[in-house]
Amino acid sequence: MTSPTTVALGAERQLLIGGEWCRSESGRTFETLNPATGDVIAEVAEATEEDVDRAVTSAREAFRSREWSRMSGRDRGKLLHRIADLLEQEADSLARLETRDSGKPYREARRIDIEGSIDCFRYYAGWADKIEGEVLPVSGPYLTYTRREPIGVCAGIIPWNFPLQMAAWKVAPALACGSTMMLKPAEQTPLTALELGRIALEAGVPAGVLNVLPGFGETTGAALVRHPGVDKIAFTGSTAVGMEIQRAAADTLKRVTLELGGKSPNLVLADADLSAAVKGASAAIFYNSGQVCTAGSRLLVDRRVHDEFLERLVDRARRMVPGDPLDSATRMGPLISQEQLDRVLGYVESGRSEGAKLVTGGDRPDNLRSGYFINPTIFDEVGPDMTIAREEIFGPVLAVIPFEDEEEAIEVANSSIYGLAAAVWTRDVSKAHRIAHALEAGTVWINAYYGVDPGSPFGGYKQSGYGRELGRYALDLYTQVKTIWIGLR
Ligand code: NAP
Ligand code: MG
Repeated sequence: MTSPTTVALGAERQLLIGGEWCRSESGRTFETLNPATGDVIAEVAEATEEDVDRAVTSAREAFRSREWSRMSGRDRGKLLHRIADLLEQEADSLARLETRDSGKPYREARRIDIEGSIDCFRYYAGWADKIEGEVLPVSGPYLTYTRREPIGVCAGIIPWNFPLQMAAWKVAPALACGSTMMLKPAEQTPLTALELGRIALEAGVPAGVLNVLPGFGETTGAALVRHPGVDKIAFTGSTAVGMEIQRAAADTLKRVTLELGGKSPNLVLADADLSAAVKGASAAIFYNSGQVCTAGSRLLVDRRVHDEFLERLVDRARRMVPGDPLDSATRMGPLISQEQLDRVLGYVESGRSEGAKLVTGGDRPDNLRSGYFINPTIFDEVGPDMTIAREEIFGPVLAVIPFEDEEEAIEVANSSIYGLAAAVWTRDVSKAHRIAHALEAGTVWINAYYGVDPGSPFGGYKQSGYGRELGRYALDLYTQVKTIWIGLR
């Protein structure tokens, strides 16, 4: 399948800098693969330090340009709506491209990734003309008020698990606030970010307001973090890289927000609606092949319902057969790369050797040897100190940890360096809220899993990062407050 955009961008996917498509100054390119087959789907220009420098200059010029700095919020909102319109028009081909680049099932790419991106642009289109200051009651003969001014030149560094959506979560609020953005997609999935760049140009976003710079973390990403002309880094990815970015950003005191890893606990109490909880627990770990920062990778289940619950969950997992992501019947695709497959298989080995009980999966499907597929995997009787209970695996590997009572469940749930999300399943409304309040996590779902909406803040406690994306909270990430005093005497 060749989408019209493949033709538009030429055989080599180029960098978008200052409204122009260009090759890397180094001439360097890299390949992006289809994880379902291992085939190369495109050659992509690699942005090097010189390209980053040109992009920063163009983003700075765009930020200061009359066209962008004087554009009213209402007109910025219209631009964001136009981006959403174009995403909508091309939703099917974008979903196919996302599926080929990332391996996620087409059905999910279309319904969740592309729709979610459209919703995000529309949501922030609505905010663009509602970014208000305040009048402050101070002592003395003054009128004192605040303005929320755009923070400036931003860099969004994003992962491969939700490529277009992660781009939307950063680009939409930044542009709504009047900032400019340089987007560094993950090396494994650069294609829909480049399409977003093209669509933004078609929508009329001025040159340099959105630059797209595919490349590698250690080169392109690190150059953005070091560059003194970048005011803000918005990063989503691993905790290890988040720490490196925070350290490197200290030299220029860049603003940083970090949305990092997780090891989210999913608590099933004895009085839960078990059918709903089985479905929820399965989606929590197997959706997107477990490559989700909020994956419910620790299932804490009350001993009294453990056997029945596990039997039903294993039955469901065995029926979830990985397959060709472009087939609309497929519910589970491959992992992103050979490297990720090796990592996940390494964790399966560690679960076995540390004494957890492998009840299903742990192996690769016999009929799918060319892509990076792995079967849904469940370990039972996992101790809270085992490696598979502590580290983020980022694959369809569930650690089941039985508990005796509520107190123990909360203690185990919170005994993690991470705190991104958590869930609790119970029919007792007071217990549900009591536990939700006690859990150390940025999001808690009750009798649900994976609720996400552009209107609802999202981010981590503890080493899952800081800053809240989405909702009105994201306006804080891309603006800064100026206080103005007027003497009245
Ligand atoms: P990662 O290394 O943290 O990558 C995320 C983004 O940061 C990518 O665009 C990456 O570029 C870039 N990057 C890497 N090193 C950088 C540096 N020194 N300076 C600036 N940018 C840098 O994540 P990954 O390697 O793709 O995945 C590894 C693990 O991270 C996963 O197994 C999972 O545990 C976790 N992860 C978490 C999330 C999340 O949403 N919280 C998402 C993805 C992965 P490259 O593409 O070149 O690496
Ligand atoms: Mg790819």
